[in-house]
Amino acid sequence: MNMHDFPSSQLASDQQIVRDYLSRAEAPRPMSASESADCKSEILTLLVKRNARLVAHYYTESVLQELAEESEGFVGDSLEMAKFGHDCDADILVVAGVRFMGETAKILSPDKTVLMPTLGATCSLDIACPIEDFGPFCDAHPDREVVVYANTSAAVKARADWVVTSSIALDVAEYLSEQGKKILWAPDKHLGSYVQRTTGADVLLWDAACIVHEEFKARGLADIRRLHPDAAILAHPESPQSVLDMADFVGSTTQIISASQRLPNDEFIVATDKGIFHKLQQISPAKTFIVAPTAGEDATCRSCAHCPWMAMNSLESLRESLSNPVNAIEIAPEVAQNAMKPLTRMLDFAAEQQLAVRGKA
Ligand code: SF4
Repeated sequence: MNMHDFPSSQLASDQQIVRDYLSRAEAPRPMSASESADCKSEILTLLVKRNARLVAHYYTESVLQELAEESEGFVGDSLEMAKFGHDCDADILVVAGVRFMGETAKILSPDKTVLMPTLGATCSLDIACPIEDFGPFCDAHPDREVVVYANTSAAVKARADWVVTSSIALDVAEYLSEQGKKILWAPDKHLGSYVQRTTGADVLLWDAACIVHEEFKARGLADIRRLHPDAAILAHPESPQSVLDMADFVGSTTQIISASQRLPNDEFIVATDKGIFHKLQQISPAKTFIVAPTAGEDATCRSCAHCPWMAMNSLESLRESLSNPVNAIEIAPEVAQNAMKPLTRMLDFAAEQQLAVRGKA
């Protein structure tokens, strides 16, 4: 495996850029129960009036996930969100998540209006992989198939041969490797490294990480496991290798949810964003779910297992985006057309494979 050789000054400037974005990640205003109920009711009316569907990620607040389900919208991981948005017959998609999810929805559904509660919700992976740097990196490695994670800008997707989500990354890498193809992987180094270790593919890695998953530490995990010796550890592959090595199951958010139902354990320690606990507990009310410990010594950690950008999605901002409407996603037509190709390739591949749950368990 090769690593992209970043000068340390480049890494330092990337971290500074992430911190600058974090400083602008606003926490939503708390609402009273009656305000929240009124707001939900207004949103439900607006969704019907505008023929809109709410599509929410597992990492968003419980109230948004409940609203999506109550209103015949959808809650899922980024691959499932993209598929639902593409297949449903709404005029408007409201995407509660982070910006790349809204962009993906718009690319796959160019005739639909795609709104977001906030356009300020970004992702450390997207920030750390600007097209101005990524384009030349790809140009320098023309012998490699360019595989990018969904957590990237439309411009980066437009430069890729494949887009993958964490639920399909292993299958695509295995497929390419069997064809003798070498991979250029961006941006998440932990997921890319996991893909390389698991499939044996020849992978050249970009150097970026998720600020939430990077803060899960093996030492803290070992401590908590001593307290809960019968608990199974479920980890998202954006976590560091030392954490994945301790996990009983490694997989995407949807795969983690399935594993929690399938495994016989009564207790689980979960190393991913704690927004997922809403769905885990909803599906298995008798089981106990424990947040894997974080050790945020790095200055970028404000998360404590919750993405500060996912947290910017609120009932209030959702109502605002639907009533005016505001925060529509726009993508330059040429970029959208080029990004559509690797995204469609992923969806076609997923349909062909009828992907089974993957992981170590
Ligand atoms: S949890 Fe990590 S990967 Fe997901 S949006 Fe937040 S920063 Fe990005």
